[in-house]
Amino acid sequence: MWRPKEFLTVSKLNELTVKEALEGLKKKEFTSVDLVKSCLAQIEKFDPKIKAFLRVTSESAIKKAEEADKEISAKGAEAFVNKPLLGIPYAAKDNYSTKNIETTASSKVLEGYVPPFDATAIKKLNEAGAILLGKTNLDAFAHGSSTETSDFGTTFNPWDLSKVPGGSSGGSAAAVASHMVLFATGSETGGSTRGPASWCGVTGVKPSYGRVSRYGIVAMASSTDSPGPLTKTAEDAAVVLRVMAGKDPLDATSSPAEVPDYLAEGKSFSMKGVKIGRPVSYFEMELEEGTRKKIDEAIEVFKSLGAEIIDVDMLSPKYSIAVYTILQRSEVSSNLARLDGIRYGHDRNSFGFEAKKRIMLGAYTLSSGYYDAYYAKAQKVRTLIKQSFDAAFEKVDLLVAPSMPCVALDVGESFNSPMFGEMMDVLNEPSCIAGVPGISVPCGFYNGLPVGVQIMSRINEESKIFGALFNYQGATAFHLEKPALIKE
Ligand code: GLN
Repeated sequence: MWRPKEFLTVSKLNELTVKEALEGLKKKEFTSVDLVKSCLAQIEKFDPKIKAFLRVTSESAIKKAEEADKEISAKGAEAFVNKPLLGIPYAAKDNYSTKNIETTASSKVLEGYVPPFDATAIKKLNEAGAILLGKTNLDAFAHGSSTETSDFGTTFNPWDLSKVPGGSSGGSAAAVASHMVLFATGSETGGSTRGPASWCGVTGVKPSYGRVSRYGIVAMASSTDSPGPLTKTAEDAAVVLRVMAGKDPLDATSSPAEVPDYLAEGKSFSMKGVKIGRPVSYFEMELEEGTRKKIDEAIEVFKSLGAEIIDVDMLSPKYSIAVYTILQRSEVSSNLARLDGIRYGHDRNSFGFEAKKRIMLGAYTLSSGYYDAYYAKAQKVRTLIKQSFDAAFEKVDLLVAPSMPCVALDVGESFNSPMFGEMMDVLNEPSCIAGVPGISVPCGFYNGLPVGVQIMSRINEESKIFGALFNYQGATAFHLEKPALIKE
């Protein structure tokens, strides 16, 4: 979908995909400085309304872009061989540690904390030549599905400013949806990448557990935390994920499996005869009718592309709510114990309401006398959930489901439900608990708001998901739609 050069004179560089921007940089049609400045202008214009960013690193970004341009003019296309994202501006969720750049995870406990190191995923992106434009808002410590638990204010949905963008990677999803950056990083423990991707109309990747190193990402629930990219297209996601993924000696749970060339493998994937399971229990959950209709239409598209759709029985996602809640709280109470305000950060009174609530519940589920009734039992059900995926993947290659039960909700609504995060992410929690990958892409609109469909696969078979989604995005144009706000 390369656009003619004239397009660039009438449109804006910030609206390009990673793929298009790389082609333009290689052909020297514009520079990385042009690209970065175009994104910064977009941030300046729209972020006062959207509030996706907690901080913008304009100066260092322009400096890096100048360096990238020098490299491109000296080496030409060669420069991209070892640096596949050279000159491409991106944003990082603020739970990714960034060397010499404040990292708060949107919590006042960490306000002012400047890490002396980069998270491995950031290091890899920077080494690949990508240029960090700033840090994005999230639910504090990634606890939530709206960004409303952020201690620094809510992010607003670019499609409708009276709605939330979803969470916890809401700032990253909103930044990509409003074309302030070409891509962003997210992290998912129980829906935090696919959810906001769905509500903001972008592509969001929850990779297999262990595929992307967790090192340097503020720990939430370490047994399910899965960092991944948010992009404008599935093809861009394949390119960025390849850079972020890989074994990391600093994360013992990172996978030693070789990182495939997702783009190449996805492109050579044929949909003919591919078996896509439709987990019946997912569709038995309470789904908004408009969302259900769009998912049914997406399934028809997969069918028309040659896939065979098969109903599969899986454990109901409703069990995942309890399992996720208990495991997540237990791990949170342990992970957040390190934030004692002695070595770094502020004292524990600075924790927000949601974090305090989760720490207390986790301390309870792990305490003697309750451990067996809650934590140990939840682990047993976790095994059943994993087995349910294993059994489904004996019959089918992929699974299709809605990413969220409804479209984006009103700002403020999350405060009406103490279990908002868990209820909203019910369709993502099972795969998170099982370590299974899933990618959400836009599949239509309901009430003017984007709907997301997700495809899941066996662990480390992301290439198959990409293959299905490249086909899907080749046949549909939902991912090309832009929010009216930014058309102004
Ligand atoms: N809804 C989940 C929660 O509130 C989202 C967490 C996540 O994936 N980071 O815990």
